[in-house]
Amino acid sequence: MVALKSAREIEVMRRSGKITSKVLTGLMRAVRPGMTTGDLDAMAEKGIRDLGGVPTFKGYHGFTGSICASIDDEVVHGIPGSRRLRDGDLLSIDIGTTFEGYVSDSAVTVAVGTISAEAQRLLDVTQQCLMAGIAAMQPGNHLGDIGAAVQAYAEQRGFGVVRDLVGHGVGREMHEEPQVPNFGSTGTGMELRAGLVLAVEPMITQGSHKVNILKDGWTVVTADGKLAAHFEHTIAVTDAGPKILTLRDFAELAEAERYRPAEEARV
Ligand code: MG
Ligand code: MG
Repeated sequence: MVALKSAREIEVMRRSGKITSKVLTGLMRAVRPGMTTGDLDAMAEKGIRDLGGVPTFKGYHGFTGSICASIDDEVVHGIPGSRRLRDGDLLSIDIGTTFEGYVSDSAVTVAVGTISAEAQRLLDVTQQCLMAGIAAMQPGNHLGDIGAAVQAYAEQRGFGVVRDLVGHGVGREMHEEPQVPNFGSTGTGMELRAGLVLAVEPMITQGSHKVNILKDGWTVVTADGKLAAHFEHTIAVTDAGPKILTLRDFAELAEAERYRPAEEARV
């Protein structure tokens, strides 16, 4: 059952998204070699609570952090703690806020210090995969158009698309129907309608798309040990097109507007 949101609900979700994006921006600016993922987690929890929200992840199925912090071959769901960031690490930060009962969910991958050109390329392609998916969120399009756009952007550039984890509907719960795969065929799946709010979150790999879960029960890693990146936004479908509820700043908006899906060949 897919719950469409009213304009009032989307406005509350936008305010939730504002908290998420503000705190995430602060974390991105704070990242440097020598700090621990636990330091970032503490900053995140304080930031969310100071702005009137509740960290959605904390306590979710027993998760101990307010963020997920996933380094290098870790794809998603890394548990923040005593691990120290090192120059050259590729760090993915995933964060969620609950505000007035509504969840917003967003993730970025950032460089710790100086990263390799290959790692930067993976980061850039993953961010553009997210933009490609968002651009497909037009009313009248279908759910499969999102995954098809992400998959085409990644695979045409030689990168892998993780299959085992997907995006999702978001609202009163962090994970609502429908599931939003990062792969698929255009014109398939449910029709996208105004009021549908989705978390789109491509997880892109340098090598194979296959993943494993570590013994901690949470951390998802690439099976071949190669790098992975992850970007996520919470987005509402509106009659005017997709509206990013977790947009961070004008530079990112300019980036989103520069993206032209027509430049991409169809697969
Ligand atoms: Mg997330
Ligand atoms: Mg999510």
